[in-house]
Amino acid sequence: MAHTLPALSYAFDALEPHIDALTMQIHHDRHHQAYVDNLNKALAGTDGENKSLEELMANISAYPAAVRNNGGGHWNHSLFWEILGANGSQPSGPLADAINAAFGTLDALKEKMNTAGTTRFGSGWAWLIVKDGNLEVTSTPNQDNPLMDIAEVKGTPILGIDVWEHAYYLKYQNKRPDYLGAIWNVINWDVVAAKYNAAL
Ligand code: MN
Repeated sequence: MAHTLPALSYAFDALEPHIDALTMQIHHDRHHQAYVDNLNKALAGTDGENKSLEELMANISAYPAAVRNNGGGHWNHSLFWEILGANGSQPSGPLADAINAAFGTLDALKEKMNTAGTTRFGSGWAWLIVKDGNLEVTSTPNQDNPLMDIAEVKGTPILGIDVWEHAYYLKYQNKRPDYLGAIWNVINWDVVAAKYNAAL
């Protein structure tokens, strides 16, 4: 089964001014599309063609680098578009309780995520994951993710922040911390809460 680019559920300019429309358009239509196309090319004619993306992630060490890089890129961006939005929500219910239990406050979680993102050298992702029923913050290089069998810290991602320069360079240039400070304005916590409940 060929993998396909998921549509955004909001307009390219929905996250302005925090994430600009041109960045969203290039990021989704070109970068993510390229991961999808290159994943399909890398899988063509192999047994991986019949595996789900999650099955590929769980056994990624058995596949070539092109599957790891582009399969990770496809999975990671699909999550990223989902957890963004312009609804200005806040964590509530069991997710809010779990954040307070694990980190003390929501601000402390944000700080920990931002530190994970700013200290990730080069390109990668900062993650909020569910691991053994608890929330943890981690990061991965390139397009790796915590679902992969090769990840240093494994778990189920419920929130991921892309810290590749292509995610912020047009608006923020080299100022990754400014981008990380702004992105919290456009997190769709209702989606993160649903992913938290599903991961438990
Ligand atoms: Mn990206």
